[in-house]
Amino acid sequence: MAGFTLSDNVPHTPFYHYDMRLLGETIDAAINHSSRFGYNLHYAVKANADKEILEFIAKKGLGADCVSGWEVDAALKCGFAPDVIVFAGVGKSDQEINFALDNDIFAFNCESLQELEVINELAKNKNKIAQIALRVNPNVHPDTHKYISTGQSESKFGIAYNEINKALESVEVLQNINLKGLHFHIGSQVMTMSFFEELALRAVEITKWFEDKGCKIEHLNMGGGLGVDYDNPMDNPITDFANYFAQFEKHLPKDKTVHFELGRSITAQCGELITRVLITKETATGSNYAIVDAGMTELIRPALYGANHKIINLSAKSDELKKPLYYIGGPICESSDVFAHEIEFPKTNRGDILTIKSAGAYGAVMSSNYNLRPRAKAIFDYK
Ligand SMILES: *Cc1c(COP(=O)(O)O)cnc(C)c1O
Repeated sequence: MAGFTLSDNVPHTPFYHYDMRLLGETIDAAINHSSRFGYNLHYAVKANADKEILEFIAKKGLGADCVSGWEVDAALKCGFAPDVIVFAGVGKSDQEINFALDNDIFAFNCESLQELEVINELAKNKNKIAQIALRVNPNVHPDTHKYISTGQSESKFGIAYNEINKALESVEVLQNINLKGLHFHIGSQVMTMSFFEELALRAVEITKWFEDKGCKIEHLNMGGGLGVDYDNPMDNPITDFANYFAQFEKHLPKDKTVHFELGRSITAQCGELITRVLITKETATGSNYAIVDAGMTELIRPALYGANHKIINLSAKSDELKKPLYYIGGPICESSDVFAHEIEFPKTNRGDILTIKSAGAYGAVMSSNYNLRPRAKAIFDYK
């Protein structure tokens, strides 16, 4: 694995380092395990929308899953064909819908009854038929952080199960939309395979409901959400795609085309955030603090969801872990700007270079210029 090492020249910190070989191997593994069942893979652009990453993934032959018109635009510009682009999102503006209509994307994943009417109206103005999939909320509760869980009935995402009859009535009367499929997405960083099996079973049930009503469903889009190992990224750089796809293969009907939208499981492990220690100090309670030059502005996941990222001191002189435990904090004026709380860590000095692993998904894309900080650069390593 070509992670960043100090023999590489250390440019101005902080910066993202992407192991493009690992990204390639990860995509190959995902394609290998899904193509066995004839499944179609889309990459969830929101996980990492860097131009170089998008172009690389488009060349590998994946489709794109977008959640804004700007993502649709970026996907098109980076080489994804319109007929492999799907567009989800609980609140799409008219401008975004019109843009996607003009580009004849594969499908809109519609998330409410009202959205069906809006898309129908906008398509009618253009004399077009919009291809749609209904995003049905499957009411599956994955055991993940509440901010990244989307498939329970109280979530804002998708059409409620008890409204699918109304959705079907709308689809039947609205002339400028064509229902092709059903879409589901239960949340993100799901590591327990039984939740995907539960989703597959719900999808079978819901598909049957539509088909019993005489509505032919051509495709099933099972969303994304497959998790990665944040605790031991070096031991598990590529997640268990085989087991994931097998959960669906067990249950989904064979006469449908099946789509997936994977984000995190494609890009998380290929990216790391390289940062330099600015200050070391002890708190009044005796904890060690290392303050680094990356913060929540570069990687907000720990501050936003209490996410855990493996951190390694690349400059450490010895492997011996120093007591007391360490906190690794960023420089931003927010108490939540802490990457790690009370971790075992070697003695750390000002100037040491640390790597924050598994930062390739929901890292750079979520950065902000809070405190007027500039955007961190990215290095794409192909060796
Ligand atoms: C975020 C999202 C995905 C990707 O989720 P991952 O957990 O990154 O795989 C897929 N589909 C939809 C609709 C999403 O919102």
